[in-house]
Amino acid sequence: MAKHEFQTEVGQLLKLMTHSLYSNKEIFIRELVSNASDAIDKLEYLKLTDEKLKNFTTTPQINIKLDKEDNSLTISDNGIGMSEADLISSLGTIAKSGTKSFIESMSGDAKKDSKLIGQFGVGFYSVFMVADRVDVISKKAGDETAFKWSSDGEGSYELAPCVKDENGTVIYIKLKDDEVSDYTSRYKIDEIVKKYSNHIAYPIFMNYTEETEDKDTKEKTVESKKEQINEATALWTNSKSNLKEEDYYQFYKTISHDSENPILYTHTKAEGVSEYTTLFYIPSKAPMDMYRVDFTPGVKLYVKRVFITDSEKELLPMYLRFVRGIIDSEDLPLNVSRELLQENKVMANIKQASIKKILSEIKKLSKDEEKYASFIKEYNRPLKEGVYQDYVNKDAILELVRYKSTNDLEKMTSLAQYKERADSEQKAIYYIVGGDEKVLRNSPLIESYKKNNIEVLILDDREIDEIITPSIGSFQEWDLKDITSCEPPKTEQTEESKKEVEEKFALIVEKIKTVLGSSVKDVRTTNRLSDSPSCVVKDSSDPMASMAHMFKMMGQEVPESAPILEINPDHEIVKKLNTCPDDKMIEDISYLLLDLAKISEGMDIKDPIIFTKRLSSIMTKAL
Ligand code: ADP
Repeated sequence: MAKHEFQTEVGQLLKLMTHSLYSNKEIFIRELVSNASDAIDKLEYLKLTDEKLKNFTTTPQINIKLDKEDNSLTISDNGIGMSEADLISSLGTIAKSGTKSFIESMSGDAKKDSKLIGQFGVGFYSVFMVADRVDVISKKAGDETAFKWSSDGEGSYELAPCVKDENGTVIYIKLKDDEVSDYTSRYKIDEIVKKYSNHIAYPIFMNYTEETEDKDTKEKTVESKKEQINEATALWTNSKSNLKEEDYYQFYKTISHDSENPILYTHTKAEGVSEYTTLFYIPSKAPMDMYRVDFTPGVKLYVKRVFITDSEKELLPMYLRFVRGIIDSEDLPLNVSRELLQENKVMANIKQASIKKILSEIKKLSKDEEKYASFIKEYNRPLKEGVYQDYVNKDAILELVRYKSTNDLEKMTSLAQYKERADSEQKAIYYIVGGDEKVLRNSPLIESYKKNNIEVLILDDREIDEIITPSIGSFQEWDLKDITSCEPPKTEQTEESKKEVEEKFALIVEKIKTVLGSSVKDVRTTNRLSDSPSCVVKDSSDPMASMAHMFKMMGQEVPESAPILEINPDHEIVKKLNTCPDDKMIEDISYLLLDLAKISEGMDIKDPIIFTKRLSSIMTKAL
């Protein structure tokens, strides 16, 4: 018998399991039954596609055996089984890097952490919440030898060859003393299995013994009983009218490992050219790994009820990676190569129809303001990715995203609502992008819009908004315009009066330019401002300026391109500066106009020490 150490992360996880996660112990049954069902799925698929396994004629089933006297529970399946190497890699290590970092970042709040366990595929180890010792006896279909894996969950496990006739896995769980009452009670097990695993596609049998006493002779006999406790139909094969909301919720929990109900579900049977069934769910809380490259995809593919894959990331587009559910096709070949899935016409059709269905369900959800607000809190960002990724459905997605806006401090708005509120003459949707909502809301650039009653969208999810918004172009014929580079709207100023102003301030503009040198790209008068003396804007004709952030995100160095300084000719400071005879004063004020504009737009200033000196000097003079 060989002794093996657990990988460090497994050790950490087991400690958590045994010492702090106690809020929802019963889920270990769900986890083990779900593994058993996956193992049968895999064998069923191979029986149909693999020459070597074609003669296997086993009838799939899962058995749960209760033994009160021994205080143990045994869960077995006749699925694919595990070889020695499988046992080492599956039950001794944690393969997914996402899971590892999750474990490192566990909050310590037992209740919260235990909810997340299933999501991260650390299911099997949950058995140590209730077990003193676990033996896994497994024989891989097609192999000669079986192996036994044993552990008390404390740092190491033992592995040795053993004898087992049938392929599959037997998990013997020696329960902790204080679990005596619970998990050997057939009522309890019945309840748990019905709660979490009712719609596992294979029958789950409960095996137990019952002692009966003959009334007359007082003779006791022990009878073995075996009864099926789940429905064992693939839920999605039922017609909608036979399913209740609760059935859908239960099934969601078995496939997602989530303990909360989903925010929506949609069940579709398509007939005609292509025949398939889809059942999709959107979790109420975004999956923890949604922003990880190695996220776990949530949609399983079946062909005629036979499980094909749950690791295909492109069954739905990337931006819908939070969707959970199943796709079951009648037309795909069983041995559809996973590599060719992407190019398969049948699959492509199902994918397009599924996207449309999901987007239209989200649209329906948007009618419920409260629910939709919580949906948006979780998924606004992936939807914005969709605007960028999915050209075909761009318009539909644009109807679903929500933005903060000057119209309301709390509520977010849709682009359609923005249009409805706006003056029909406006013909454009204005926005400002940055990293800080408060700074954006108080930006001097917004002043003239406010004065003219023009709503401005506040896009403060900078990382994504800065890249995506310029690519939107227009929404229902209205262009989206960045107020830091577009012409201000509703200028009552005529060309002549503009020229007049320019001429009047030409000299001072030149002086400021000379003072500021390469710190600015240009200096000019503007009618963009009302209360502020100055602002800085991006040069709309400079592609580098608008792409700078994108390059930075891609990890590339970008020389910060100098902004354009605009001064407000109606402002007292600017008016007085225009007639100021003191060159030193002009110099100080020029710098301050630039720095103050930057500060109010949330940018860094070059040299805070010199800034303070200049300001102090002006203050002294003012007094
Ligand atoms: P997950 O099921 O999310 O991958 P688990 O920790 O529950 O995580 O299981 C780890 C791996 O162990 C599974 O992916 C599977 O390969 C293997 N495994 C677990 N239980 C069984 C079983 N009953 N039969 C075959 N393989 C199993």
